[in-house]
Amino acid sequence: MDAQDVHGDLDHVLMTKEQIQETVQGLAAQIDRDYEGKDVLLVAVLKGAVMIMADLSRAMHSHVTLDFMAVSSYGSGTQSSGVVRILKDLETDLMGRHVLIVEDIIDSGLTLSWLKTNLESRGPASVEICALLRKPEAMKVEIDVKYVGKDIPNEFVVGYGLDFAEKYRNLDFIGTLAPHVYS
Ligand code: 5GP
Ligand code: MG
Ligand code: MG
Repeated sequence: MDAQDVHGDLDHVLMTKEQIQETVQGLAAQIDRDYEGKDVLLVAVLKGAVMIMADLSRAMHSHVTLDFMAVSSYGSGTQSSGVVRILKDLETDLMGRHVLIVEDIIDSGLTLSWLKTNLESRGPASVEICALLRKPEAMKVEIDVKYVGKDIPNEFVVGYGLDFAEKYRNLDFIGTLAPHVYS
């Protein structure tokens, strides 16, 4: 789905398809260097991180395994509730594994901070985080995010996996939602 199809719902484009791909390639190269000779378990948080999981894992040369988790911290709105619940857990035993959490976006950081602690309690060799986007102004907790694609202003964005009420996930670019759509 491209910009033509959602004309009027979006305010402006934040990352084009090309910019996303370039950013993801850069992240993959960095990760490959850091994990040279190691097997990496990529853990994506559904559903938002599906697109970056697919592109990042294919851009990597390391041996990877993929697993998915679903947690809820948001309803259909645009505000973080701070409450995290596991809706679908991993199928992989994390004991001794190098885990890389792959996320679409870090907003308050509450979800990831909770998730990192949760995964660390399962005996992995390491747990790091890779996020395509981060909103530094919105962060409410300190978390060490080793790989960040791009820092963005504190605006609600959609596309490339990110939704508003389950819409816009299949845009191949990232844009900000026009206020009339959510107000
Ligand atoms: P956090 O716990 O860091 O506040 O955010 C958790 C999740 O909320 C993110 O992984 C993402 O799924 C969703 N989220 C946060 N900010 C945005 C945004 O700007 N747009 C969309 N579509 N989802 C967001
Ligand atoms: Mg997410
Ligand atoms: Mg959402």
